[in-house]
Amino acid sequence: FPRERIRNFCIIAHVDHGKTTLSDRLLQMTGTVAENKMKEQILDSMDLERERGITIKAHPVTMIYYFPEEKEHYQLNLIDTPGHVDFSYEVSRSLSACEGALLVIDATQGIQAQTVSNAFLAEKHRLVLIPVINKIDLPTANLTLVKKQLEDSLAIPADEAIATSAKEGIGIDQIFKAIIQKIPPPPSFPDQILRALIFDSVYDPYKGVILYVRMFSGKVKKGDKILLLSSNKTYEVKEVGVFCPKMVPEEALYEGNSGYIIANIKNTAEIKIGDTLTWETGGTTTALPGFQEISPMVFSGIYPLNSSEFEKLKNAIQKLQINDPAITISPESSVALGSGFRCGFLGLLHMEIVQQRLSREYGVDIITTYPSVIYKVSLRSGKTIEVDNPAKLPDPSYIDHIAEPYVKSYLIVPSENIGEVMQLISEKRGSCESTESLGHDKVIMHCYFPLNEILVDFNDKLKSITHGYGSMDYTPDEYRISDLVKLDILVNGEPIEALSCIVHSSKAESRGRSIIHKLKERIPRHLFKIALQAAVGGKILAREDIGAIGKNVTAKCYGGDITRKRKLLEKQKEGKKRMKTFGKVDIPQDAFLEILKTD
Ligand code: GDP
Repeated sequence: FPRERIRNFCIIAHVDHGKTTLSDRLLQMTGTVAENKMKEQILDSMDLERERGITIKAHPVTMIYYFPEEKEHYQLNLIDTPGHVDFSYEVSRSLSACEGALLVIDATQGIQAQTVSNAFLAEKHRLVLIPVINKIDLPTANLTLVKKQLEDSLAIPADEAIATSAKEGIGIDQIFKAIIQKIPPPPSFPDQILRALIFDSVYDPYKGVILYVRMFSGKVKKGDKILLLSSNKTYEVKEVGVFCPKMVPEEALYEGNSGYIIANIKNTAEIKIGDTLTWETGGTTTALPGFQEISPMVFSGIYPLNSSEFEKLKNAIQKLQINDPAITISPESSVALGSGFRCGFLGLLHMEIVQQRLSREYGVDIITTYPSVIYKVSLRSGKTIEVDNPAKLPDPSYIDHIAEPYVKSYLIVPSENIGEVMQLISEKRGSCESTESLGHDKVIMHCYFPLNEILVDFNDKLKSITHGYGSMDYTPDEYRISDLVKLDILVNGEPIEALSCIVHSSKAESRGRSIIHKLKERIPRHLFKIALQAAVGGKILAREDIGAIGKNVTAKCYGGDITRKRKLLEKQKEGKKRMKTFGKVDIPQDAFLEILKTD
């Protein structure tokens, strides 16, 4: 295909607004897949993705479209984008492979938080945006309102919007026409040097690593020697091809194409997504824009529930990582939980998905610890260290100050809930910079939050306040210095490292109280009194005591039934096994679980 008749585009949308249905419809109308195959939605295939309405991996698909107006065939490459906030780095790299995007909005729901952040992201990548208002077949569709929202909040002229029903197949021809007429063809590089952007990869046990690439210039074919710019590693190409939507080998890939390259790459860890691929000799030395190192933002410990399953867990995590290099892992051990791993994730949803896959696909029962962000701790010595595990925080006397990551966030909420939402924002140490109205009954709130505060239950609370009508999205922002302290939990004066946490000083006392309360409920009485304390830098913020009891468990047996007595003693011994001893105090494992677990 000549460059002028190629278009590379993606579809961006809030979850459930119809991206998958529309993608399938485009594939079907171009004959890329037959209609009877439509039932299984093709683009996002993993069960978990379907269930949670998100797309984890971006799959590119090549379609050939006959444009009747010009009596010409066009090659349309649809680069799928993942649909959730945690994956905004993935959205971002998919966008770098495109010249345009369809922005799909549900006509019954209107603009949501992800619509706004996706539109901003697309603008940043200078993509041509084609607004698509979907589900117009539904009686509650409100075209006028959505058009007004488009103009008010995104400054997109309403008459550019295409009204569609992906389900009924309405307005699809107009979409093809707009893709061809509004989205520019791929740019040209006169030097014809090989430049390809690696925007994703998958691992195949037989073929090794499969690179998803967008060709910007030159051509690549079997036998070529290629170089990856950032790692400076070279490989020989074994196969090139396109997705239709299954992999179809081709002679070569040319400028403007999107497709795949298989070289002798053994491990996904060898490549960097967003990297530029060129010739080994005579190639380019300048990287294509779009490279963004991915780094995890949320950390948590993952331990086998049963310590004999450690090897099984290790295998499972390593397998997961091959296909999802965004997960980082390092060994960790904890007095309370045994051997496990410290894992880094892109966000909370990413973490949940990995946890679910571990138990569902690999059958390992796991315990995950309370999530943490990366704190930047400036020491009095002038050094700055990064801490993702509160147990690793140095003694307060060495610390000058601590900075924590903030996120920039958009909330879209019904106007009537603003008061309660404002209260939630301040509870979470956030600030609302501005609000603007979105149609007559909704507002967009532009906010900043410490990432740590929105990790666990923010979204649930927002949904509950707004009866499900509120939505939020966020992007990472700068680090800010905060009044953060290490909260220690002491049992009879001895700090229990596994229970330490980093909290804002204003929340230290309440958090401390809640932890020692849970401990008190779960630590059995001992022969002596046990003091439970929550402290910050030696200052006690909260205290509870567990009173002493007599030891003789057989005392309540009347008479001399010796078998009964023995049974009781054995039971007590067994109970002891699941205890961890600190000083002279036995703490049951489930006490740790109750405090450390996520929910
Ligand atoms: P995604 O999360 O953006 O990929 O959304 P899906 O394509 O999975 O669609 C979400 C739901 O909306 C599914 O139940 C679809 O059947 C439904 N849906 C998608 N497009 C339309 C449409 O044009 N009309 C109607 N009535 N329902 C639609």
